[in-house]
Amino acid sequence: MDLNPMRIQMDMQTVFILLVLGHLCTVILIIAYKHKQVKDPAVSTFYAAKWLQAATWILMSVPTITDHILLLAFANILLLLGVSLETKALLTVVGGFDATARLFYNYFTIVSIFAYCGILVFYNTEGLRITVVSLSIAVFLIPPVRRMIALPRRSALRLITGYMYLVILIGLLCRTILSLVPMFPVSMFEPGLYQNLSFLTLYLIMMLGNTGFVLLSKERADRQLLKLASYDDLTGALNRRSFTLKAQKLLEAKDRKSPASFILLDIDHFKQINDGYGHDAGDRVLENIAFIVSSILETSSLFGRFGGDEFAILLPEAGVEESDAVAEQVRRSVESLEIRYGLKASTISMGIVTVPSDREIPLEELYTTSDMALYRAKQLGRNRAARVDIPWG
Ligand code: GH3
Ligand code: MG
Repeated sequence: MDLNPMRIQMDMQTVFILLVLGHLCTVILIIAYKHKQVKDPAVSTFYAAKWLQAATWILMSVPTITDHILLLAFANILLLLGVSLETKALLTVVGGFDATARLFYNYFTIVSIFAYCGILVFYNTEGLRITVVSLSIAVFLIPPVRRMIALPRRSALRLITGYMYLVILIGLLCRTILSLVPMFPVSMFEPGLYQNLSFLTLYLIMMLGNTGFVLLSKERADRQLLKLASYDDLTGALNRRSFTLKAQKLLEAKDRKSPASFILLDIDHFKQINDGYGHDAGDRVLENIAFIVSSILETSSLFGRFGGDEFAILLPEAGVEESDAVAEQVRRSVESLEIRYGLKASTISMGIVTVPSDREIPLEELYTTSDMALYRAKQLGRNRAARVDIPWG
């Protein structure tokens, strides 16, 4: 029976050397990327993984490696360590590397190395060696693949990379099963279909690993930058620019069916908190008020810091009654901060404007009108909400 229908002649040394070059090229590009960059643990782990894998394939290209049991053991230990680090870096970049994952990777790396060494000492056959290595790599891949495929709100890049890795994982499991069937010749070192498939898989893993990791970490960096550019550092609320952009989109929605309400919120006598307790205490009050307000609001609402002690809320589907109720809930929760934080009573005043569903009103005008309402609330004695009806209605 012809076991090599593809008739691809691949010389083992060349394949291994090309793998070494592939990993080294990635290492060089990462060095260039890391230069003057803020240290990223995921990139450093990936970098270490590439060195280990390059070393593995250098050792594997020694022509008679199977005759040198120690060298073979060393090469495979490096491979298992390298794959463990690479999958760990992948899991970090997709945001799933927590304490449990750390424990899993630490223990499973040790277990896989001991299993491989045990096989070498007690039942040294190529089939069993392949079983241990393939199964270990498949298990290392499970956490990042699960994270990439199962997590809600994943990007197209995550999903596609996840499915590609899933194909590799299934391939590795098939390889594990095949290596246990005594009738099937499974040798990486003998020419044939199995060797060709193994080499192609190794290339695929290397290419997907390198490109996938780089793109996923770029995607993560972009997301972090976007977050930094959109949110206020101190309070975590949207900054004025991104609040305005999002609010404009919501207000301009063509098929807006319900009224929307805009609330401008300002802390009362905030200067006194700063003067009496210090700027840091003032910052804590800002943080706590922002936290309390955002935990009251529904996810469809917008909450942003407009500057200083002034915040804005957009309730995209709230009429007069609903927005009054939200404002009162916010006012009472903030008032109760005194008990929770032992500071002088922090209260807020609010100016509310409600826009009917059939109106399109520029955000700037909403802001000006709600500022008039806020002024009225301050005049009426603070710690309250006041409303101004839109003058164009
Ligand atoms: P009113 O009741 O009329 O609003 O009185 P107020 O004292 O709160 O007056 P105002 O709103 O004008 O004061 C805002 C103060 O907020 C002035 C500024 O020193 C302080 N501030 C602005 N940004 C920050 C900040 O990031 N941290 C702290 N701690 N204080 C800030
Ligand atoms: Mg104030």
